Parts: sequence; structure tokens; C-alpha cells
Amino acid sequence: MNTGCIFCKIANGQIPVHAIYENEEFFVFPDRNAQAPVHILVIPKKHFETILDVDDPNLLGRGLSAAIEGARRTNLDESGFRIVINTRDDGGQTVYHLHFHVLGGRFMNWPPG
Ligand code: 5GP
Ligand code: ZN
Repeated sequence: MNTGCIFCKIANGQIPVHAIYENEEFFVFPDRNAQAPVHILVIPKKHFETILDVDDPNLLGRGLSAAIEGARRTNLDESGFRIVINTRDDGGQTVYHLHFHVLGGRFMNWPPG
């Protein structure tokens, strides 16, 4: 728990949000500023500032599995989706608690902006 971190507060229930999926390690919930018809976030309950700070590479695999479960539960598995991890300044990261975006419900343009 990193005091002052908004995603730590969401992960520990201090800020209530709708849980799309949760397991002991990850929490999946809607982004409050959706950039697609479906836009959900996957956060580890443990605080890591960025993907560069993760000490256990297997956690990233488990996070992807949670993202896939979130995609299934929001019915994106047939139509498809995109998983994004913005990292530091040039990646456009604004919240420094590791998170995966899962976006879908429309065609996702390539290349991204
Ligand atoms: P980043 O820009 O760091 O990759 O993504 C941060 C995301 O978190 C943004 O898409 C933003 O809309 C979302 N976000 C920031 N604060 C909150 C919040 O308090 N609740 C929810 N549900 N999403 C948030
Ligand atoms: Zn945090």
C-alpha cells in the first residue's frame, strides 16, 4: 500500500468501484474515462510504479491472464480487444501504479497515437 496512490485505494476497497473480476492478486474494474465502448483496467493489488519495477516476471503472465478474464467477462472474446501498458512519460503513463488497459467494443486503430 502506497499512501496517496489512487489505485492502491481502489485495490484495498478504500475507494469503491465496480469489480468486473477479482482474485487474490489482481483487481479488474472500468476506467472512469473510457476511450472505447469497453475500457477496463487490471491492477495488481501490490503497488509497483511501472512494469519496470516488477520483480517477479510470472506476475506479468498472471496479470495478462486476469486481463483475458476481464475481456471474457465484458464479452470481448469474440470481437477482439487490445491490451496496453503505458510506461513512463513517452508511454503516456499518468497513474504510477502498474496497470493493463483492456480496450474493445470498436475497431482499434493502428498505429496508436
Ligand atoms: P495511464 O494514463 O496511466 O496509462 O492510465 C491511467 C488510467 O486510469 C486512465 O485511463 C484514467 O482514466 C484512469 N483513472 C485514473 N484515476 C481513476 C480512478 O480514480 N478511477 C478509475 N476507474 N479510473 C481512473
Ligand atoms: Zn499503488
